[in-house]
Amino acid sequence: MAAPTAAQVAVGGLCQNRVVTTTTPASRPRRRPVGELVHQLSGVPGREDRLTHLEELPPREAVEVDWPAWAAPEIVAAFGAQGIERPWRHQAVAAEAAYAGTHVALATGTASGKSLAYQLPALTRIRAARGSRGERGATVLYLAPTKALAQDQLSRLRDLGVDVRVTTHDGDSTREQRDWARDHGEYVLTNPDMLHRSLLPGHSRWSRFLGALDYVIVDECHHYRGVFGAHVSHVLRRLRRICAAYGATPTFVLASATVADPEAAGERLTGLPVLPVTADDSPRGRVSLALWEPPLTTFAGENGAPVRRAASSETADLLADLVASDVRTLAFVRSRNGAEQVAMTAAGLLAEVDPSLPGRIAAYRGGYLPEERRAIEQSLRSGELLGLAATNALELGIDVSGLDAVILAGYPGRRAAFWQQVGRAGRGAGDALGILVARDDPLDTYLVTHPDALLGQPVEATVFDPGNPYVLGPHLCAAAQESPLTEADFGLFGPTTEDVLAHLTDSGLLRKRPRGWFWTDRRRAADLTDIRSAGGSPVQLVEAGTGRVVGTVDAGSAHSTAHAGAVYVHRGETYVVQDLDLDEHVAVIDRGDPGYTTTAREITEISIVAEREHETWGDCRLSYGEVDVAHQVVSFLRRRQPGGEVLGEEPLDLPERTLRTTAVWWTVPPHALEDAGLTALDLPGAAHAAEHCSIGLLPLVATCDRWDIGGVSTAVHPDTGVLTVFVYDGHPGGAGFAERGYRAARRWLSATLETIRACECDSGCPSCIQSPKCGNQNQPLDKHGAAVLLGILLRSH
Ligand SMILES: [Zn+2]
Ligand SMILES: [Zn+2]
Repeated sequence: MAAPTAAQVAVGGLCQNRVVTTTTPASRPRRRPVGELVHQLSGVPGREDRLTHLEELPPREAVEVDWPAWAAPEIVAAFGAQGIERPWRHQAVAAEAAYAGTHVALATGTASGKSLAYQLPALTRIRAARGSRGERGATVLYLAPTKALAQDQLSRLRDLGVDVRVTTHDGDSTREQRDWARDHGEYVLTNPDMLHRSLLPGHSRWSRFLGALDYVIVDECHHYRGVFGAHVSHVLRRLRRICAAYGATPTFVLASATVADPEAAGERLTGLPVLPVTADDSPRGRVSLALWEPPLTTFAGENGAPVRRAASSETADLLADLVASDVRTLAFVRSRNGAEQVAMTAAGLLAEVDPSLPGRIAAYRGGYLPEERRAIEQSLRSGELLGLAATNALELGIDVSGLDAVILAGYPGRRAAFWQQVGRAGRGAGDALGILVARDDPLDTYLVTHPDALLGQPVEATVFDPGNPYVLGPHLCAAAQESPLTEADFGLFGPTTEDVLAHLTDSGLLRKRPRGWFWTDRRRAADLTDIRSAGGSPVQLVEAGTGRVVGTVDAGSAHSTAHAGAVYVHRGETYVVQDLDLDEHVAVIDRGDPGYTTTAREITEISIVAEREHETWGDCRLSYGEVDVAHQVVSFLRRRQPGGEVLGEEPLDLPERTLRTTAVWWTVPPHALEDAGLTALDLPGAAHAAEHCSIGLLPLVATCDRWDIGGVSTAVHPDTGVLTVFVYDGHPGGAGFAERGYRAARRWLSATLETIRACECDSGCPSCIQSPKCGNQNQPLDKHGAAVLLGILLRSH
């Protein structure tokens, strides 16, 4: 037996004895149930404390029902040919409602056959409405958040082999394809971007398609959140308006992964009442879900704070152990470099056990050609490949059914994504194992120590704010160009419409005439906004040398993430920014990982414009409203990875920017602070620490990540005269995150307090109050003071 490697000794990881005894390649015994594997993993000496929770989700029996009487026999036969004898009950319930013209939000788990629920009524209608010579009757529009998903849907519809004219309409379509889709397509697959830029502005050419529109299917609609969600909600309202002009009132079918309150989310998105269908009647095997927390290391991080072992290192160990036990395992890692590192480390560990094993682990990097993807799928299915480390890019375009276990190196940020990734494990009704390995941050730490937050009723709501004037304005212009706006449209676009219209008229973008508001500009109104960007002209990331546009960054975050010298991770690739040209909206970047990350330091000031709502909590006050945030990025820090040790600071010369947005804030009066024993000296650190941790935990209740929001805390704020902690939306006009924080304040701030109290560090660490995006090098921070402060606030409630 090989001696343990240095890494294994240091971390108490992979146990050689265990690995050797559990794998006998010559006569492979039947594996133990996957649930038992967890105990095997956590039983390794030194790892006893890492498993924080093990949940056994019992297997679920399928509930099958008869096909609806109206279902077209040839469509039923086509599903039958794919092995679907009868639908599951939730599919039939959603299909019945949609067929009857009720708008539906179907929110059930991964692999619960959501497509059948809308394909059955949609295809049936198309077939029934077709003329005797095959001419088009009813039409269906399918919207996916990405091109790849629409392509995937296309091939699945083609595999079904029914006689319906299905086609995609996207940025890659040729002119002929687009013309054909418009004139003959019955089931057109597209995305909200094409609807916004092409179909709606050119609606007169699409009039026959739109006038016959029976169904609008909005797939994977949990993607529509934040500013993007607000944009899409207006694109759908514009679609409804134009369809009505051609005499059509399509039925909306929304499909999403399980989220909190799909009914409210669906209504916000479409502006229509929707019927939620959430009871999942598809079968599932037993799922063992392990929550896992890496230990503190002996390394000192920023300001001497203890640092947890990296989730990716821990994941590499677990991947190696599972592969050694002949368990087909997929590990999700945030970046491409990370995925390669995990695969390499795991292979290295296995090499010491059995020289044949390292070859059975690979990294999946995204950007593969279809045949390469199929080869990986094939070798996973055959068992030739036992372990795969992948970025989230894998979520699209690869079928990895047939896995036993999934490891998540860090919470993917949203519940829907979490369950989608966990749902990759389990062969049919076979047992599955999911392991969530916590990253060193407040949200992950909270989740692995509060299993209810992950496994109980969802509290994380998909939020966006259709009333945001920065988002609504350009869509009103686009709508006016599509057909002049009248007062009859106010109800459709919401209560802020009238004010925003007045503003657009004052600024000369729209003209008010007796018959309504008109767009008289020569430009295309749809070009005023990019629905994927949060306002302002996005900055393009251009690769030096090739000139290739790799992606874009919102104008609002370019200063802090794309300044010269910044290390930027885009779709798992690491780049270093060479130069940021603010006039041209271009950042020139170079591929390469310098081994450190960068954080911008900025000076932020906030002023209250208007308080919209408030609650008094004893002597304290919780408010939600409009604020102006003034930012200036003044320098950046280079931090060694892993560890976060500061390598140096470099000044930057960037202009100040102001942001009008929404915020949630709370105040505590001086006498309450005194009574609790907090002195003037304690206050800045206490408020700052409470702010950091609360930002880290807002994603618990809202579908944002900590990069979508910012905070400011001060011992005495000029506008309130007392200690105030602000958390604001990082996008112009707000994306709904601060509002959600206000509405769920009790839950959110209680979780913040618990996280601070429960953290095992002495005076603050990345798992509780330190923040990687702090503009002040995480100083001052007072962990004890923050707990006292939040205690006052929550006790008063
Ligand atoms: Zn801590
Ligand atoms: Zn800070």
